Amino acid sequence: MRCLVCKTNELEEQYLENGLRVYTCKECEGKWMRFGDYFTWHNSNKNQSETVTEDKYISVKDSTNPKFCPDCETILTPYKVSSKLSFMLEHCGSCNGIWFDKNEWESIKSIDLHHKIQNFFTEAWQKKIREDESREFLEKHYTNKFGAEDYERLKQTKKWIDESENKSMLLAYLMNENPYKL
Ligand SMILES: [Zn+2]
Ligand SMILES: [Zn+2]
Repeated sequence: MRCLVCKTNELEEQYLENGLRVYTCKECEGKWMRFGDYFTWHNSNKNQSETVTEDKYISVKDSTNPKFCPDCETILTPYKVSSKLSFMLEHCGSCNGIWFDKNEWESIKSIDLHHKIQNFFTEAWQKKIREDESREFLEKHYTNKFGAEDYERLKQTKKWIDESENKSMLLAYLMNENPYKL
């Protein structure tokens, strides 16, 4: 089985923590993970006691060239994994194998998502990432516009109004330039 990135290097069998089998390239340090191996590991409960590493600055070298599955030759599809990680994982839609570029597995592990890989390639997961991304984008936008302190106050006020029984009256009062004119 050749490396999907380097093309000429043979992938070598390697075991990650607690016996999770992958096929690794010595040259680029990419990893091919068969879904069956992941699934066995996932169901073995050996992944329960993983300690999350503190290092949030693992550098990833995301390769973007088109890749073909080394097991069934289907073209791989790139997927985002989290709004907090900028790289894409590549997934075979036919046999479910996954390609990790150097440190992608480690980055996923650092935010404790490495036992949720089976969810990454679902519509629900992808939709959640898009929602997280737009919320984070707008959070930044509002913070810039209002300043952190005013934005915090505004959020609290909105929460208070939203939860009030008199929501529409409170809003009408606020919107009215002069609420004391009959
Ligand atoms: Zn390689
Ligand atoms: Zn495949």
